[in-house]
Amino acid sequence: MTIKRLLDREEWLIDSLSAKMGRREGRHLTDAVYCNVKAWGNARLGMAGYDLPKPDQASIIRMAIGIGLGDVIEAGFHHQVTTLSADDSSTGTIDIWYKGRRVVEIKCTWKSSNSTPEDSPHWMEQVAGYAARNLGDRKTATAELWIVHLGGDGGAMKCPVGHERPAVVAKRKDEDTGRMRMFCEECDTFYVAGNRNPEVRCWSKTWEREELLSLLKLQASRQAQLAEDIKNPDYLINGGKHLPPIRWGYQAQFECGSCHIRERIGCPGIDEPTGQEEASVLEAIQQ
Ligand code: SF4
Ligand SMILES: [Zn+2]
Repeated sequence: MTIKRLLDREEWLIDSLSAKMGRREGRHLTDAVYCNVKAWGNARLGMAGYDLPKPDQASIIRMAIGIGLGDVIEAGFHHQVTTLSADDSSTGTIDIWYKGRRVVEIKCTWKSSNSTPEDSPHWMEQVAGYAARNLGDRKTATAELWIVHLGGDGGAMKCPVGHERPAVVAKRKDEDTGRMRMFCEECDTFYVAGNRNPEVRCWSKTWEREELLSLLKLQASRQAQLAEDIKNPDYLINGGKHLPPIRWGYQAQFECGSCHIRERIGCPGIDEPTGQEEASVLEAIQQ
């Protein structure tokens, strides 16, 4: 028996996956959610005829798993529906248009299944954008987020009954073993190990009409600003200090660390949260 690792096959596999998941053409709703400098850089590199740098292998594999899972889950529903915004003519792709009236967005993540949508304001901003485009004359709109947590809750110790884990977990002696163990102060039960297997969580969120209309306006103004920045000759690729200013996005939170065009456009990025970042748009419009 001979076993060989097929390095050229691995390379081909990653290249083909990455080619299939290249950036889509035109303006997309997510350009008004994620880093504006990245959206600008992608547009400029594309316009100049460069091949866009590929996301790293881990991101490509995660994306492929997400798309594959989405395909299976979405079978039987209207899915991958492209919506157009009347306000800024950017597109958005709804994963599932559930029963002809509710937006469903599917996400695939290594984030713990203990997290809630509040921990991912960027997803809520995106899903609210889709809900806003499909509001019609309704007073409120509800959208759903179906999240596949690839690594479950990451195995974090937890109360078996489901009480919330405090910031500092109390410990007491287990008389059977004589060892100190974490326990839940609410139900006085020892913690058990969490789960590292994939899990699904489904969430819904309802917005008032006014909230969604404000969001639409804000996202439209961002698209207009982005279009202006793309045309502005003062902003230059590889110019370092000639890049457009950061105007919106989640740079320090997670975008800069894995930004695939950072080097290409000479962007210094932000590695540490400065405390100055704009709050989630949804929080902002609710205040
Ligand atoms: S490095 Fe950060 S600020 Fe620069 S383009 Fe990428 S995400 Fe945006
Ligand atoms: Zn408990």
